[in-house]
Amino acid sequence: MGTQMRRNWKFSNNWQECERTLESRMATFYRLDCKTPRFVELSEGNDWEGIVCPINEGHQRAGCRITQLHIDIVSRRIADFSTTILPYVVITDHALQVLTSAKLTGFRVEPVVVHNYPKGMDQNTAPKLWEFVVTGDGGFAAAASEIKVKEHCNYCGLTRYTAYDHGIKVDENTYDGSDFFIIKEYPTHILVNMKAKSVIECSNLSGCTFIESTKLRWPEGVVKP
Ligand SMILES: [Zn+2]
Repeated sequence: MGTQMRRNWKFSNNWQECERTLESRMATFYRLDCKTPRFVELSEGNDWEGIVCPINEGHQRAGCRITQLHIDIVSRRIADFSTTILPYVVITDHALQVLTSAKLTGFRVEPVVVHNYPKGMDQNTAPKLWEFVVTGDGGFAAAASEIKVKEHCNYCGLTRYTAYDHGIKVDENTYDGSDFFIIKEYPTHILVNMKAKSVIECSNLSGCTFIESTKLRWPEGVVKP
């Protein structure tokens, strides 16, 4: 038994060391992608600020949401990570406990208002849900990503960027080191480091997949900016 214990200790020690070396040599980042089918969807009750451009009518658009996130639960199949179509990300309280106890950084949560539940799901047994808001900052993507400003309006601040045809390469000089973060060009894409990916996978949190950020390609059928 003594030998076995020593062996285990050695193994875990090596593994941690190996992980540290790996992390310092090559940082790999992933996009956290919430899978369909949907578990939640926007309901009535949401409102956004309106942005009106003084020179170009085509720049009118919705700005920041000014209400709490109002949603319907649309499936009895619970997903720890889910997204509405816009896309706001919603996590279960179970997922929050996992992320918090692993001391992951770069996010906060906000309460959500649930309006409707699917048939057969009782309001009292439904999981507690939170809006998942990423606060980690990756700055702008590294120049090697070749994402360029396509259009910028000085009057209303509208900025459009070109598609990522060469994946998203994180600029480690501007990345703040958070476990969850976004880059300025594509703020709806949640990026994570290896630590966050491992925690989520090892805890079997459902509803998301990971794609290495440098291997991301513009989705087929979606018009490029
Ligand atoms: Zn404008």
